[in-house]
Amino acid sequence: MKKILFTHSYFLRFDPKQWATGQPYAPLGTLYAAALLRENNYQVSLFDTMFAHQPEEVIPQLEKSCPDFFVIYDDGFNYLTKMCLTNMREAAFKMIQFAKEKGCTVIVSSSDSTDRFEMYLEKGADFILIGEAEMTLLELVNAITKNETDFFKIEGLAFKQDGAVVKTVRRNVLKELDSLPLPAWDVIDIEPYRNMWLKQHGYFSMNMGTTRGCPFKCNWCAKPIYGNRYNTRSPENVIAELMMLKENYHFDHIWFCDDIFGLKPGWVNTFANLVEINGLRFKFKMQGRVDLLLQENNIKDLARAGCDNIWMGAESGSQKILDAMEKGTAVEQIYEATRLLKKTGIKPSFFIQFGYLGETRADIEKTIAMINELLPHEIGISVSYPLPGTGFYEKVKDQLKEKTNWTDSDELALMFSNTYKPAFYKQLHSYVHKTYRKHIAFENLKQLFLHPFASNARTIKKALSALYYIPASFLEKQKLRQIEKTGA
Ligand code: SF4
Repeated sequence: MKKILFTHSYFLRFDPKQWATGQPYAPLGTLYAAALLRENNYQVSLFDTMFAHQPEEVIPQLEKSCPDFFVIYDDGFNYLTKMCLTNMREAAFKMIQFAKEKGCTVIVSSSDSTDRFEMYLEKGADFILIGEAEMTLLELVNAITKNETDFFKIEGLAFKQDGAVVKTVRRNVLKELDSLPLPAWDVIDIEPYRNMWLKQHGYFSMNMGTTRGCPFKCNWCAKPIYGNRYNTRSPENVIAELMMLKENYHFDHIWFCDDIFGLKPGWVNTFANLVEINGLRFKFKMQGRVDLLLQENNIKDLARAGCDNIWMGAESGSQKILDAMEKGTAVEQIYEATRLLKKTGIKPSFFIQFGYLGETRADIEKTIAMINELLPHEIGISVSYPLPGTGFYEKVKDQLKEKTNWTDSDELALMFSNTYKPAFYKQLHSYVHKTYRKHIAFENLKQLFLHPFASNARTIKKALSALYYIPASFLEKQKLRQIEKTGA
């Protein structure tokens, strides 16, 4: 039986902001691939890089398991791998080298290697899997195991032939997601994940995908793995995995890592019914679009199923910028979806993006005003980041010189010319966070005065945080003004 050692290239320690945040999620995509290959009679094991200190730690694993195939298979469900961070790329290159030195056939599947397959082949990888990769991987290792040498018949592959890089036709994405085995959760040591969650947050969250792909076309959003098709697991199949995870790992919370959760009509209603029938009790967070969160019935079903927090791609408070992004949403919808979610007891959280092409100071002010008025539960601020395969990338690619990717998820460097210099956006990020926190503190102060006897310790703590956030946001604003003035 041929042996496959799986790994992935996300090292949490190489992403200091995420390490400090302490919300690790297991490499779900890797576990799906491992499950399928195991089902097809390969002996699979996993070197999990999540808590590793350095890529060199893979060497003893390679020596111990002597695998025929070394497969770097990133978790395409996690937005962190979609960022194609150079710290992780460098680690992948090192692991390719170590595995080649041990005589393995090296296969890579990731957003970054799909975009830059030539680079990975140059570093010694034998094959790059382009796009959604479970079936490509299975066909490839089957072919190699049978000593076949014609790889052109395998769709979704890049490799070198006679010194030249060649690519086969792109593979269509899987439609029947229920046909895949459940992820091989048993090959990963889940305890470090649980420990970090419990230590830093007091509960344990696991990740699950119910769909693949997104049919919308926001022009900056890269989807190199699952693309623009939208395919869904059945609610029954998702419930089966939830039951298995509950029994074996006793999670408290789930992150449904779909680009868009529950888009298929009627899916959420059936899912909520099944959650209730099976007596499943858990909270979850998910991602959605504001224009899909305007129907009260649907929101009530989400709440009934356990939805606690919805991250929405609000992006901007300026309609001009939403239109430039081809987001297909309206600012009023952000307001309305937020209102409905709060009314139903679900926490609305916003993804915000600054620095899109054409954004002026007036647009920025609209976004800040929207955040401070709506007071979402959490905000995640990013800076426009051109990734290959997007319309946005095509617009600015001539300006991308040596630097095309961030080193880690907190770099937030603006890599093309815009209204302001990169330092401005970095400082804007700090200022917006502080002023948002200040407004949250004001809201809690208001509650404290209006309902002093109904207030809990959390409200009091947040109200008192005004003592810090008033001066902090003032100072951050002064720094922002200074940078704006000097054009640094
Ligand atoms: S809706 Fe979300 S996942 Fe879909 S294209 Fe837009 S940003 Fe990307």
